[in-house]
Amino acid sequence: MSIKIDTKKCVGCGKCIKVCPGSLIYKNEYKKAFIKYPQNCWGCTACLKECRSQAIKYYLGADIGGNGAYLYVVEDGSELKWYMNSSDGRKMTVSTNRKESNKY
Ligand code: SF4
Ligand code: SF4
Repeated sequence: MSIKIDTKKCVGCGKCIKVCPGSLIYKNEYKKAFIKYPQNCWGCTACLKECRSQAIKYYLGADIGGNGAYLYVVEDGSELKWYMNSSDGRKMTVSTNRKESNKY
């Protein structure tokens, strides 16, 4: 699993760079974010949650049946909406509350 950043959507805010715990994301000469070592991404989704431009897609690994399926996140008030597109065209949405999602 890893992320892919769409440089056309990236506005260069740098939020993903700040939150990546592995310091894997950098800016290119056009101030667009890119992931330097995608093989080192462990899929924490922190960058996904911070990107307001939906420029980051998170590709699910083949080991969990990913086969091209990906997630992206859209902020909607206090909620995050997780959109999943599977390789066979199915779509799924899950909403989480930013403040409540870490409560047990
Ligand atoms: S958070 Fe999104 S818009 Fe901001 S630099 Fe990263 S990819 Fe670009
Ligand atoms: S998913 Fe986590 S580890 Fe991977 S690039 Fe984003 S912030 Fe870094």
